Amino acid sequence: MRTLLWFRRNLRVHDQPLFRVDEAAVGVWILDPREILATDPAGFPRCGTHRLRFLLESVADLRSRLRALGSELIVRVGEPETVLAELAQHLEVATVRTIEEPGTEERTTERAVAKALTDQCVFERMPPETLFEFDDPHEVSRELPEVFSKFRRTSEKREHIGVPLPTPTSLNAFPIDVPPGDIPTLRDLGHEDQAPNPKGVMAFQGGETAGLSRVEDWIFTGDHLQRYKETRNGLVGADYSSKFSPWLALGCISSRQVAAETLRYEAERMANDSTYWLRFELIWREYFRLYLLKHGPRLFRRGGPQDRDLGWANPAGHFEAWCAGETGEPFVDANMIELKETGFMSNRGRQNVASFLTKNLDVDWRLGARWFESNLMDYCPAANWGNWAYAAGVGADPRGFRGFDVQKQARNYDPNKEFVRLWNNDGPDAVPIVDPKQSLARAENRWESSEHKSH
Ligand SMILES: Cc1cc2nc3c(=O)[nH]c(=O)nc-3n(C[C@H](O)[C@H](O)[C@H](O)COP(=O)(O)OP(=O)(O)OC[C@H]3O[C@@H](n4cnc5c(N)ncnc54)[C@H](O)[C@@H]3O)c2cc1C
Repeated sequence: MRTLLWFRRNLRVHDQPLFRVDEAAVGVWILDPREILATDPAGFPRCGTHRLRFLLESVADLRSRLRALGSELIVRVGEPETVLAELAQHLEVATVRTIEEPGTEERTTERAVAKALTDQCVFERMPPETLFEFDDPHEVSRELPEVFSKFRRTSEKREHIGVPLPTPTSLNAFPIDVPPGDIPTLRDLGHEDQAPNPKGVMAFQGGETAGLSRVEDWIFTGDHLQRYKETRNGLVGADYSSKFSPWLALGCISSRQVAAETLRYEAERMANDSTYWLRFELIWREYFRLYLLKHGPRLFRRGGPQDRDLGWANPAGHFEAWCAGETGEPFVDANMIELKETGFMSNRGRQNVASFLTKNLDVDWRLGARWFESNLMDYCPAANWGNWAYAAGVGADPRGFRGFDVQKQARNYDPNKEFVRLWNNDGPDAVPIVDPKQSLARAENRWESSEHKSH
């Protein structure tokens, strides 16, 4: 009995739910041009160079790890429903197995694959991966509170964080009489090779191997976990936060593995608020994944899951100035340039630039989310769209108007202007394209009138 393991956002061999003991299985990874090679309606690639590089490196690493265990990773470019139907027939497999993803497009693709494989073989879909050991994540998502803290409290009280599955020491494969396929290069896909910008927070290398060593280095060797809660709002350098996000987004490391490492640290070294706080952030990640599963396409509409249209006017030139880091607001511009140049931005930066786009510049939040989707190396549909809807005031935790005073934020978090000097190109005469105080006050008025409408 042969099985094809369809790898998607689970590009690793540790804690891998797809594996079964004694099963003859071969992996497959498919680059879907609709997600990776398409152009956004605003004219930029849906998947930009930084994210694509990290993805291709991650696939290469998975292939070498599977080969080292005695199996193989077939690589193809095409629509999964077509590729899998052809491979399943040619290789005479009995089962194609994958892990469901909460994303709406991903679920549409799963349905297309299910249809294409009908009458051909079994298509086994495992429930989406979670941090907690939920019996049925779909059921949890249907009941999900709209407020994060309620979800966190209940889950922490009632559920256990899952223990990672053991890593196999070898795998049984079956012989394949098709070429395994080359992993395309950036150039093959129309992107220029780019050396990492030395000013970036760190040189990210895609794949499980680099991801696991980052976990070991940051938590244990560098001992950074014990101060995480105090440093996590930083802006410069490799260690103010974990930087696990690109690996977590592609499943090169699992959230259960990261949680298990924090628990090991607590057992071997010390436990404090910081050592807990990394798990707290993983619960945010879990929440947004379930939130996307719950709301599906509603998360992507202008008014978000709350159906609250805040009347964004998209003034000419504002979105373009924001993307280019040319708003004249130094803290915003520095963050946006960092994103474009490196594919990464701190959480503090993301919150500020999202608030600035939607509240000061009066631009539809979905344009910002799409720019992040293109540029962020750690792009993940749930975390990105969930955080954007939250920042815009149309998503989870709708607790009154929340807009950032970006100048005050800059004074608090970048008091010596180290970060702004590192990235900003604004000359001394740069004038902000909007008045930060007046534009924020107007956004608050719009919020209040939308509150009246909804009551
Ligand atoms: C507008 C906006 C868009 C975002 N888009 C993404 C995205 O596409 N992908 C992504 O992984 N994160 C996203 N985030 C969340 C967060 O900013 C990043 O996860 C974090 O900055 C990554 O750095 P780190 O790994 O050092 O995080 P750490 O502070 O070390 O946190 C550890 C891990 O917890 C998870 N996490 C932390 N904060 C959040 C959060 N708010 N939501 C969900 N998960 C979280 C991440 O997996 C992260 O790697 C976004 C936040 C905002 C405000």
